[in-house]
Amino acid sequence: MRIAVGRFWTETSSMTPLLGKRAMFEAGALVEGTALLDFFRGTRTEVGGFLAALDEAGIEPAPLLGAHASCSGPVEQPLWEWIYDRMTTLLREQLPVDGVLISLHGASLAVGEEDTCGALLAGIREIVGPDVPIAATLDMHGNPTERMARSADALVAYKTYPHHDFVDRGLQAARIVIDAANGLIRPVTTITTIPMYLTSLPLMEDLIAAGVEREREPGVLCCSIMPTHPHLDVEEFHVLSAVTVTDGEPDLAQSIGRDQMWRAWSERDRIAAETRPRTPLPKAITDALAMPPGTVVIADPLDSVTGGFPGDCTAVIESLLDLGVTAPSLHIINDPGFVERAEAVGIGGTLRSPLGGTWGADRYEPVTVDATIRLLSDGKLMKSREPQPGHLEVSNSSMGRTAVVEIEPSITVVVTSVPVMSTEQTVFRSVGIEPYEYRIVVVKSVNQQRFHYTEAAGFIDLAGPGWGNAGNDSSWRSYPRPRQYPTDDVTDEEILAILDRQSEAAR
Ligand SMILES: [Zn+2]
Repeated sequence: MRIAVGRFWTETSSMTPLLGKRAMFEAGALVEGTALLDFFRGTRTEVGGFLAALDEAGIEPAPLLGAHASCSGPVEQPLWEWIYDRMTTLLREQLPVDGVLISLHGASLAVGEEDTCGALLAGIREIVGPDVPIAATLDMHGNPTERMARSADALVAYKTYPHHDFVDRGLQAARIVIDAANGLIRPVTTITTIPMYLTSLPLMEDLIAAGVEREREPGVLCCSIMPTHPHLDVEEFHVLSAVTVTDGEPDLAQSIGRDQMWRAWSERDRIAAETRPRTPLPKAITDALAMPPGTVVIADPLDSVTGGFPGDCTAVIESLLDLGVTAPSLHIINDPGFVERAEAVGIGGTLRSPLGGTWGADRYEPVTVDATIRLLSDGKLMKSREPQPGHLEVSNSSMGRTAVVEIEPSITVVVTSVPVMSTEQTVFRSVGIEPYEYRIVVVKSVNQQRFHYTEAAGFIDLAGPGWGNAGNDSSWRSYPRPRQYPTDDVTDEEILAILDRQSEAAR
């Protein structure tokens, strides 16, 4: 038996002007054929899970394309077309196969394709025909489209946030495909969606736990909860979904999805109570300095690379300079132009230059700094020392060419050439910096930092001027903003009617 294995993973924010480029994939993964096997075997990624399951079952993997990058705006169209072409060409060359396992994100847009994951799955289905099982893993923040559910037999999304169950989901998807290829099951996937924007992590965890409980029932293969990330300008947008895989029982899948979504709706009051507040500048800094001794991690969710933003907003650095803060602080900023200027000056040299703000448009600007160049690096990331994998491990193998600079009185900045998932200490340790030696560490992350900075003295979520702030205006949208609770007035009757319609469609 042979099962094809591929990966296309990047998270898009439609509003971000920095498009997805080849250099970002080169700083992540861009491998095919046997190089895919060498790259991913033994890694703590979904593909690592696929390969472990196949190896254990004595099944030969048929490698396709393995491409991942950190997040950005939509992928440049020629690059997306190349990715689609390579994935499908390699699959044709690998025929016949008994199954397909593909690791996707689910919210990956290209300039000319809103649903790249659906397009890939449909293309794969066309090549392998109706009887070869296909399973895809997804980030829970992906947008599960009808085309994805129709083209794949099984969609399996992360069940942890901060995400760290990449291998487990790879194993789960692989077992579904192996059982289906052996004729033991006939997986079928349904999507149940309601217009409710879920920002309460405890409620999300309760829903995921309820889904895992239902996976114990006979015939229930996988129950996912997908709170799609909100910065997508797509026609088919699913605000909150239950994605359910059963063994040949779409009615059962739909009824589980309905139970999950009705429970989410019934407990919607928890959203207001359980969503973490965000603190504006300069209060975020004064609050951090007032915390107990140790390292305070300030997350900048509105410029989070994990959310598809450029990671180049320097508002915190500007505020630290304005306040004259002498406590040491550590930052990571994506600015390839600055890195080039730093390389021209060389280690030990000084540079007066704008920093960051390259993709801020009218939202934020560069800060002009006097910087001393302390280190220049190829940006290659060391192996993570984290007991559990994080976002960095599935997105970046490098930060691109990187400069470490110091700005008086006590600011250290790691300047990278591509967006980097700065969720864990590895990004700093890879350039010889120990983040716990700093009073303040600023990361371009939403939630993952809480998983990795276990010894932090405190956490602050910043209300910065980044692109995430644009969520409330619609200038970046070509489609109307999705109607959703709590922004819009959504009634019980409306939710029930939506659920009834979806149950009807599944019959
Ligand atoms: Zn995610």
